[in-house]
Amino acid sequence: MIPEIRALPMRPVFVLPRPIEAVRLDGGRLCLDFVNTIHDRYAADTEDYVRDPQRFLAWCERAGALLPDEGVRVPRALQKRAALMREVANLRDHLHALLAARVDDLPSPHEAVRGLDGWLHLAWAGRSLGADGRLHWRADARDARLPLKRIALDALDLFSGPSASRLRRCANATSCGWLFLDTSKNQRRRWCAMETCGTADKMQRYRRG
Ligand SMILES: [Zn+2]
Repeated sequence: MIPEIRALPMRPVFVLPRPIEAVRLDGGRLCLDFVNTIHDRYAADTEDYVRDPQRFLAWCERAGALLPDEGVRVPRALQKRAALMREVANLRDHLHALLAARVDDLPSPHEAVRGLDGWLHLAWAGRSLGADGRLHWRADARDARLPLKRIALDALDLFSGPSASRLRRCANATSCGWLFLDTSKNQRRRWCAMETCGTADKMQRYRRG
């Protein structure tokens, strides 16, 4: 006797967010890791690792854009939280546009230049010279926007330094799109990471025979 086939009750599928500790930092620099906080940038289904202020600040601590003893907290007001996330997305888009243009040997997009320039000015205004002869972040600059200023300064350092010529895009250009610094001796690194995109490529070749 053929058992009656009944429709299984539909259950909602909850996908737990990836723990911040599991987010890969393969870029080789803070500003590149920040741009790489979008998983599979060129895929239809992307994943934003820093999609809320808590995750953003946790990622910043992990990536070194914030120090644990700086006491930076997530803003309480909803409006401020939303504004912060808009700024995170904007700076990330501008940096990606600038870095991708550099990789592809194209002129820098004006809007992205203006966007980074604005953050650099905020960063410079947020620091003052201390009695020790060093620049320190002012007390009023130690808020949730501080990591964005550090990221902007890191991007400037990359653009104007010798390592800019080692900037690469992961060879998995159909989905990944991550950027990284190729610090390998022969400068022939192809993948953001061998364990992820490199292995996926190997598997595809294997299946194709
Ligand atoms: Zn990749």
